[in-house]
Amino acid sequence: MKCSIQGCVGQYEPRQIVHTLQRGAEIFVFEHVPAEVCSVCGDTLLSPQTINHLEDLLRTKSKPCRTAAVYEYS
Ligand SMILES: [Zn+2]
Repeated sequence: MKCSIQGCVGQYEPRQIVHTLQRGAEIFVFEHVPAEVCSVCGDTLLSPQTINHLEDLLRTKSKPCRTAAVYEYS
């Protein structure tokens, strides 16, 4: 599928990505999330089903497989 970013000639390719969601002060990291990623600009598309699944994981308070350190840039 052609990239939806105006002027980009790339194509979306199926990949597994790391996706983050922020809920208030909390940040949740998901690994191996199926997504379509543009080969040129890196634009990322998640299907509605994928987003629903991520929301389900948060809603059911699934136990994380591991935790990540979060750093302030400055
Ligand atoms: Zn693109």
